[in-house]
Amino acid sequence: MSVAVPTSVDGGLGGGGAVGAAGAGAAAASGAPDWLVWLLIGFTVLMLTWLIWRVGKRGGKRAPLTLAVVLLVGVGAVVLTRPAPETAAAVDRQAATAAQEAAARGKVAAGSEGMVGLSFDDGPSPEVTPAILRILRQQGVRATFFLQGTEVKKHPDLVRAIQRDGHVIGNHSYNHPDFSTLTYDQARQSIEWTNNLIERVTGERPTLFRYPFGNSNPETDRAVRDLGMWDVLWHWSEPGTGDFECPGWKEVERYAINQLADQAIILLHDGNDVIGCGEKQLKYLDRLIRTARQAGYDFGTIATADGPSHINQDSWVQVVAPE
Ligand SMILES: [Zn+2]
Repeated sequence: MSVAVPTSVDGGLGGGGAVGAAGAGAAAASGAPDWLVWLLIGFTVLMLTWLIWRVGKRGGKRAPLTLAVVLLVGVGAVVLTRPAPETAAAVDRQAATAAQEAAARGKVAAGSEGMVGLSFDDGPSPEVTPAILRILRQQGVRATFFLQGTEVKKHPDLVRAIQRDGHVIGNHSYNHPDFSTLTYDQARQSIEWTNNLIERVTGERPTLFRYPFGNSNPETDRAVRDLGMWDVLWHWSEPGTGDFECPGWKEVERYAINQLADQAIILLHDGNDVIGCGEKQLKYLDRLIRTARQAGYDFGTIATADGPSHINQDSWVQVVAPE
């Protein structure tokens, strides 16, 4: 079993944190980005050439000073290219922990980096949901959709389409309030209304709930528990620019690839804010799926768990192979 754990993609250890799958290795092993090292080496070579030329031509009055500068830059380059012991140790620790966790779960298949779960909030919307469903169908990926009660009411056909394609359906409140400001009763009502609507359309009552904005308070947490539901947050490895901010497909792709790690739940949207982002932004999805698969990841859906998932803000959920 290969446990070449996602160094750059998870902790941002791999300098730059760009498309980690391919270029992580070299940069992650040393303490400095590649371009800086090459710049310093180039500078040293140039200075040495110039020094030799000067000494040869005029006897080099300022040769000692120049030599000192050259040595300093040279030493700097050597120090920077050496693997930073702390970073290397952190990567090892991370790999060991991930290996233990994977072994404990026994879910990572040979040749796989593990399982990631795509999750789409705020839908369904006629503007975005059908396009997302089409891409997921073409790629054979199952995901988890957290639906808003108001939108379920308006677009029951889309809810049925989500169900027909085998995706998991969760509850994302009735009309997207900030739950940190709600009472126990208000929270309970918002969740129950939505459960009722979803059950009426699909015949199934959701067990997964996602807080709008990820916000909650102890009273709303109690309401979620009393309803026998699990709240589901997500993996957020660095301040990325999520799709709801309309940063364009390249940025969304970059953000999502940065989240790749075994058991990571990736936060995406198919309603509300992303409706205004335009269709073009959706280009990220197909590319993300291909890149993740090339890097060895499988896609799963979200299910309840017996303990906290540290990679997903300690939500008691897991990403499992689709049924
Ligand atoms: Zn939302």
